[in-house]
Amino acid sequence: MILRPCLHCIYKKDCEKKREMLDGIRGLKLTTASFKCEKRDNAIPPGTRVSYIFKFVTAGWHEWDGEPYENEERVEIAGTTMGIHRSGKLIVWLDEETAKNRWIVKLQPDLVKLLDEPIKKICECCGCPEGKENRKEWFCPMCDKGLTWEEYNVVLKKEHGVMA
Ligand SMILES: [Zn+2]
Repeated sequence: MILRPCLHCIYKKDCEKKREMLDGIRGLKLTTASFKCEKRDNAIPPGTRVSYIFKFVTAGWHEWDGEPYENEERVEIAGTTMGIHRSGKLIVWLDEETAKNRWIVKLQPDLVKLLDEPIKKICECCGCPEGKENRKEWFCPMCDKGLTWEEYNVVLKKEHGVMA
């Protein structure tokens, strides 16, 4: 029996909610089951400092003899959680970009390392962790321009006639 929300949950080994669900569907001949689990969704709150070991594989052919090669490099990168994706993965803003130039990634909660660091504030407009510089492709009126939520709403209303 596979309980989907439990697959990569940090509580998967011992969880009263999981036991309760299993008891409830025992005998129903199901192979997988899905349910909304607030315990999982709140397990790692936004702003939590985490790190993850990325594996980068480079492959090619040696210039001198044409033999193929494959190199695997492991790099640990720290980051800050921005929230949880509907798949159950954490959305993480990395401190450094990965080899593929990505700085926002989705990671399985049970595969990240929880760092013993204070929780960071998250911008309520764009989800950017406090103290992180925005990237070129990123635009946020609150953390780019230092507007508050109320001021941002005033600007939005003036420019577009809508409220955020
Ligand atoms: Zn922002």
